Amino acid sequence: MTAHGPHRGPERKTTMGSIDVLVKDVRIITCDADDTVIERGYLAVREGRIDAFGPMDGTVPAHASEVLDGTGLSVLPGLVNSHMHFHYRRLGGPVGPNILGPVALDALKSTRTAFNLLREGVTSVRDVGHNDDSRLHVRDAIRDGVIVGPRATVSGAAIGMSYGHAYFVAESVASLDGLVETIRRQAHEGADLIKIIASNEDLPNPPGDELTVPWFSAKAVQVAVETAHECGLPIAAHANGARALERCIEAGVDTIEHGIHLSADHASAMAERGIALVPTLSGFFENSREFWGRSWQPRYAALWNVHRETIGNAVDAGVLIGTGTDTLGTVAQEAWLLHKYGGASRAAALAAATRNGARIARQGADVGTIAAGNRADLVLVEGAPDRDLLDLGRARHTFLAGRRFTREELAKLIPAHRFFVDELDGPEALPRSAGVAAQGPCG
Ligand SMILES: [Zn+2]
Repeated sequence: MTAHGPHRGPERKTTMGSIDVLVKDVRIITCDADDTVIERGYLAVREGRIDAFGPMDGTVPAHASEVLDGTGLSVLPGLVNSHMHFHYRRLGGPVGPNILGPVALDALKSTRTAFNLLREGVTSVRDVGHNDDSRLHVRDAIRDGVIVGPRATVSGAAIGMSYGHAYFVAESVASLDGLVETIRRQAHEGADLIKIIASNEDLPNPPGDELTVPWFSAKAVQVAVETAHECGLPIAAHANGARALERCIEAGVDTIEHGIHLSADHASAMAERGIALVPTLSGFFENSREFWGRSWQPRYAALWNVHRETIGNAVDAGVLIGTGTDTLGTVAQEAWLLHKYGGASRAAALAAATRNGARIARQGADVGTIAAGNRADLVLVEGAPDRDLLDLGRARHTFLAGRRFTREELAKLIPAHRFFVDELDGPEALPRSAGVAAQGPCG
């Protein structure tokens, strides 16, 4: 859809010279409810907010402190990574020793990730946990201006039942009392959400088996949901396999993370109950590749093969979907895979990466879309991602509350490291046209 006329905040009286940044001749992808696109427009930023935007006509402000030529670029709301882990994002090689370091090192690694996320055009994130509390401090440090990074919503330590999936990066509980106590403590300590690991897919399930090891009993999921909600917090459930999904949907979690083996029935129940899905397709896609040198590559390849076959159920049912990369992958990949395998329209994939994510991460109504008065959390990418979603991975400028960072500036700040893979378009297997990914990495 193409809009006409300028869009201004009702309270706004633009005066000459008061605009901080004016982007001209830019493609504007608003990601609003109508998926409005302005082919050639302007966008003005003032005092950290979107002041006005519209087509390049007589309403373009005459003066601005800084004018950017947007020719060949598109501006979108800043991207949202709805499922990631600050301190072990895009680590190659053996994972164990690299993610169980001291909390101070975790915080420093998180700072590195924060820069990298800005470089990718990501301005909001949802960190779904580790077994220490570094991400809470990183969130606060970003909020208080100690470091620069995307706005963060963070969970308490992921809560698992004893010896479950990823128990070494989770906080294990052994009883319902322990579960209640842990959730209350995490709420007290300042978590923005609760995360449970409701299924265990690390066990040697027979091929084709639907990961039928829920790990959390139906009662335990119900207790977790009730306790989180009583504490005023949303609850996210890592859930794969039919039985775990059923228990989580029935209990009314707020989001399902991953959701492998999600059936059409699960999906329609989620849509009906307003339960969102963060499928982390790119996380599974990347973990299925030998490039990363991970011991679990064969298992993730099998999971990816199932996931890409069933993700369309969620798209078809109209489930609210967000783009999360988990430990690997990028938001651009995630949107592309959602389109490629889930059948999501490009507009729907862009919505997942922006306005849906803002809702899932509970970042407030003034982020996730381009609208006058909204926070100027923006990304300018090369190309036109509403035509080619992989252009989302070509961020050139990222605005955080109106403050602009360029790709080059951020790249200079991030030293090369033998474990971290920071390049945005180096390792990804996704081609810019048909090819390997058309069959997927495994088939
Ligand atoms: Zn995760």
